[in-house]
Amino acid sequence: MNKPFNPPALPFIDLQAQRHRLGAALEEAILKVTRSGAYILGPEVFELEAQLAQFCGAGEVVTCANGTDALAMVLMAKGVKPGDGIFCPSFTFAATAEVVAWLGATPVFVDVDAETFNLDTASLHQALRTATEKGLTPRGIISVDLFGQPADYEPIEAFAAAHGLWLLSDAAQSFGATYKGRRVGTIGTATTTSFFPAKPLGCYGDGGAIFTDDAALADILRSLRNHGAGSDRYDNIRIGMNGRLDTMQAAVLLQKLTIFEDEIVQRNLIAERYNLALNQVAIVPNLPPGVTSVWAQYTMRVAPDRREALAAHLKAAGIPTAIYYPIPLHRQKAYAHYPSAGNGLPATEAIAREVISLPMHPYLDLQAQNHITQAVVECLSN
Ligand SMILES: *Cc1c(COP(=O)(O)O)cnc(C)c1O
Repeated sequence: MNKPFNPPALPFIDLQAQRHRLGAALEEAILKVTRSGAYILGPEVFELEAQLAQFCGAGEVVTCANGTDALAMVLMAKGVKPGDGIFCPSFTFAATAEVVAWLGATPVFVDVDAETFNLDTASLHQALRTATEKGLTPRGIISVDLFGQPADYEPIEAFAAAHGLWLLSDAAQSFGATYKGRRVGTIGTATTTSFFPAKPLGCYGDGGAIFTDDAALADILRSLRNHGAGSDRYDNIRIGMNGRLDTMQAAVLLQKLTIFEDEIVQRNLIAERYNLALNQVAIVPNLPPGVTSVWAQYTMRVAPDRREALAAHLKAAGIPTAIYYPIPLHRQKAYAHYPSAGNGLPATEAIAREVISLPMHPYLDLQAQNHITQAVVECLSN
């Protein structure tokens, strides 16, 4: 047997290692909120908003209950309604398109680039024609920074500007990344993120935030998250929702922010090591020039007929894997009736059969990573 290293099953994402690192300060921060009684919109919420704004350079930050509400609130603020066509990728988590459907509007699915997994501008042009043919009013684009890597924003912004569309950047997976010197959070009309525990910056429950430089939009978002409140909470000037971030989660995030920059560095070192070890046996994720990632996932591509065997081989070696995403949205029961760009989404179809994600978190040590890469190479070189 050529298996000297035989550890217990590895975690896919190790949140406990992070918790041990943060130690007593984290627990005290939670206890402080418990004792304060300021459970809803307490001071930590506003402190977090200020720190997030400073972190990414956004003019305004509005925290909210989760990344899905964050998307929905921007669409509500933009008055999205039935008859509107909103362009978004099919190769994403369901929430991206779900919020469009919530408001009765029509998601128009756009293909992605097979190398970056992000919106393909050529397909965006086709999607605009498709939307117009279907009698929809094109209103906006929701781009996704899949797996932590920003989409190619320059052509997307140019397209949005040329056609009078707003651009909402779904950065649920990419907060902390950069695009050509711009931090995620400063791109588009508004940017949203998620603090779901498994995201690069996660809390201990659900959480989200919206970033924008548009102060008037931010005012509407603050009203929306609090039942459409006007000058006080019993003054309702619009239909809103309960979209607030809990004070407790803000306290957790303030602690996690203190180590976030370092965690991003670690994630990048780990991704580089994966790329070096695996580029001969798989199509590994290479970043285009000027783009940095926070590696929410490390996702590579393998031949479709090898993927299942690889997952089984790794599982036997105590290594968990995941498929993000096995069925793209335009093939899902709930979304199949919505239009797709042009004659279909060939890159999306292809990569959905090829992708596989390996364990990725800042606390993946060298020994564990070597165990993973050796097992991948062992399986794929045969
Ligand atoms: C996680 C995620 C969301 C939703 O975030 P929640 O906080 O879970 O509501 C939206 N879009 C993408 C791309 C995501 O990965």
